[in-house]
Amino acid sequence: MKAICIFLGSSFGNHAAYRDAAAAMGRELAIRGMTCVYGGSCTGLMNQLADSALSAGGKVIGVTVQALKDKEEFHTGLTELHVLPTMHERKNLMVQLSDGFIALPGGIGTFEEFFEVYSLAQMGFHSKPCGLLNVNDFYAPLENMLCAVEREGFLKRPYQESIVCSEKPDELLDLLTKKVTDL
Ligand code: AMP
Repeated sequence: MKAICIFLGSSFGNHAAYRDAAAAMGRELAIRGMTCVYGGSCTGLMNQLADSALSAGGKVIGVTVQALKDKEEFHTGLTELHVLPTMHERKNLMVQLSDGFIALPGGIGTFEEFFEVYSLAQMGFHSKPCGLLNVNDFYAPLENMLCAVEREGFLKRPYQESIVCSEKPDELLDLLTKKVTDL
C-alpha cells in the first residue's frame, strides 16, 4: 500500500492519548514510506498527524474544499494540497488517491467520512480496507453498535468483520496491509 487516508478530529479531544496517537500514526506512515492523505487542516489532531509525518520525512497530501481554504483553515507546509469546489469532489479524490482508510478519534466529520468509505465498500464501489485506531477504547461503542446492527439483520457479517481494529498504529497498518494482500 502506497497511500493511506486518515480521518481524524479537527480538535484535540480531552485526552493526551489522542494527540500521542495522531503523532505516532504520522511517524509510522513516514517510516513505512506510505503517503498520508488527509483533510488538509491545520487544527487539532489533523495538524498533529501532518506535522509528525512531515517531520519524520513523510509525504502528506491534503485534500480540502475552497470554503475551508478561504477561512485559512489549511496547513501551509504540505507536500501537496488539493482544493476542490465541493465536499463530494473532495471525498472522491481522497478515495482515488488512497489504498486504504483509517479513522482515528474524532467527531461527526470523522464519522461521516469513515462511514461514507465503509458504505462505498459495501456497495462495491471500491475494495480498499477500512480500519479504526481504537485509542483509549474510543471506538468500543461503535464496534458494539456494529455488532448489534449485524445481529439485528441490517449488516452482513462479512462487512461487519471487514473493519480492522487495533489500538496501535503499527499493528493497524500491518492488519490493513494483510487485508490487501489476502484479497
Ligand atoms: P471532526 O471529526 O468533526 O473534527 O471533523 C474532522 C473531519 O472533518 C476531518 O477528517 C476533515 O476532513 C474535516 N474537517 C474538519 N475541519 C476541517 C478543516 N479545517 N479543514 C479540512 N477539513 C476539515
